[in-house]
Amino acid sequence: MVEAEDAVAAAEHIRAELGDGPVVALTGAGISTDSGIPDYRGPYSPPRNPMTYQQFVGDFAFRRHYWARNHVGWRHMEGTRPNDGHRALAGLEQSGVVSGLITQNVDTLHSRAGSRRVIDLHGRYDRVICLTCRRVTSRSRLAQRLTALNPDFDVEVSDAEIAPDADAVIAATAHFRVADCEWCGGVLKPDIVYFGENVPKPRVAEAYAMVDEAGALLVAGSSLTVMSGLRFVRHAAKQGKPVVILNRGETRGDDLATLKVDGGCSPVLASMASLYGT
Ligand SMILES: [Zn+2]
Repeated sequence: MVEAEDAVAAAEHIRAELGDGPVVALTGAGISTDSGIPDYRGPYSPPRNPMTYQQFVGDFAFRRHYWARNHVGWRHMEGTRPNDGHRALAGLEQSGVVSGLITQNVDTLHSRAGSRRVIDLHGRYDRVICLTCRRVTSRSRLAQRLTALNPDFDVEVSDAEIAPDADAVIAATAHFRVADCEWCGGVLKPDIVYFGENVPKPRVAEAYAMVDEAGALLVAGSSLTVMSGLRFVRHAAKQGKPVVILNRGETRGDDLATLKVDGGCSPVLASMASLYGT
């Protein structure tokens, strides 16, 4: 294991392990903390009970409360910006070192930084899906509808506690009016994979294929707590490919890594990008 006190030295170790690629990158919440999105699973994070899919679909009052909070909180995500880590991975893709990116984040910051081949494993905060007809629409369109339905519902976003899934904590939500699908009247849900829900199979297959065609795997900013990400580390390790894990603190994939770097994503990835001459 390498302690990344010296980002340049860490980047040199990583390059020696990964070679010239193509490398597939798997990213998690740790890459977005420098953009102001808290990592609720990180080593210094408070414990939190995440919402489950079953709670969302099974309980109207819960759903109403969720949408009221999300109506306030989701705009915080829109105001966030990519950081050096996102930009470094976009640059490494442009120079052909990184062949593609699998992200567990729903914040769209990789795409906004310029990464082109991105698999949003757990969905995107800026989209909404109908659970009946599966039609996907934009979150901003829903925002207009919710505002029209709830003209008096206005809460200072700055007072809200912001969570990775765009929740914001507010008190009175009992009178909030929820919007249903415009086409079929079905229940709308953020196009995000929640706890208790599976990643759609075609998306998983696409991610496996991306690992198959790459020469190495770089994990950046994920503790690999959930199987949805860990399985790709196992897959690459089984194929005998180099697996580098860059993360603050332990991960569930540490025993599978050929190199583990304990450090922050932004400085180390930025050093990597300049080392590779991007
Ligand atoms: Zn529908």
